[in-house]
Amino acid sequence: MLSAGSYEQTSFKPHVPGNLAGSRNVPHECIHCHITKPSGAPAFPICSGCRLVRYCSREHQTAHWKVHKPFCQPQKHFNENTLQSVRASSEMAPSGLTVKEEMIFQEDDFCRLHMWTLSVAMECLVHEVRYQFVIKKRFMRIGLEYRPNGDGNPAKTFTVKYVMSDDLPDESGPPTPIDVQISAMAKQYDSYVGTPGYRGLLNCFYEVEGLPGSVFPIPIYEYNPVRNGPVVSGWYDRMKSMMDNGIVHRLLGGAWKPGVMVKKGKKWVFQERSREALFAEFGVRVLY
Ligand SMILES: [Zn+2]
Ligand SMILES: [Zn+2]
Repeated sequence: MLSAGSYEQTSFKPHVPGNLAGSRNVPHECIHCHITKPSGAPAFPICSGCRLVRYCSREHQTAHWKVHKPFCQPQKHFNENTLQSVRASSEMAPSGLTVKEEMIFQEDDFCRLHMWTLSVAMECLVHEVRYQFVIKKRFMRIGLEYRPNGDGNPAKTFTVKYVMSDDLPDESGPPTPIDVQISAMAKQYDSYVGTPGYRGLLNCFYEVEGLPGSVFPIPIYEYNPVRNGPVVSGWYDRMKSMMDNGIVHRLLGGAWKPGVMVKKGKKWVFQERSREALFAEFGVRVLY
């Protein structure tokens, strides 16, 4: 689900009617071979099941199905059942989507934009409690609160209210869409094994008041002082102030670059800033 394309994406469209089953901002990358759509070429088709990934060809969709199926099918049910009930129980927004649908799509973009910040913060956390934290049995709950008066910046739609770790749900009782998503992620756990420093896959479950939330898996590696810096304590405040101020990272030319989202025409576009400039403007030191 989270491909390199998710991290390289620098331009985000606002949500408008006519795209009810998924985010408008699904990266233009084939999830199987990782080629990116040449500019000017027609968009790669979106998977009609989950509506969250693209393929350059029918052959690559078929070749990827075994890997993709555990994620795609629960996501399809989630789209069909949960989004429908959300539609039924929410007022229309000026965009033509319901208020809650808009929030779900905005949450998806927000998570894509802040994934690097979050993954560094989670590495700090796992490092801090390294002998008590069993990644396979625990997951993170990240509580977000909607900002109704935001300026439309996709990196600032929510504020962070809390981060807490929790046990994975027990398997008695009918599975909720979140249970299904988490168990699908668990199947990806071993797919990173063999990568140097890999310690496990951490499931991050985003909660937004009154919404079903979404799950993103983050691969966790051995704590790296060169990358993460010597200071582990204070990771929560630094993560929160980065996210609340809309400071994001994008993977550009193989390196992580900090910056902010700036409105250009109808789109929001990443603008790189130096760490010094970000500190001068926001009083925030980025997390590594
Ligand atoms: Zn392909
Ligand atoms: Zn799919």
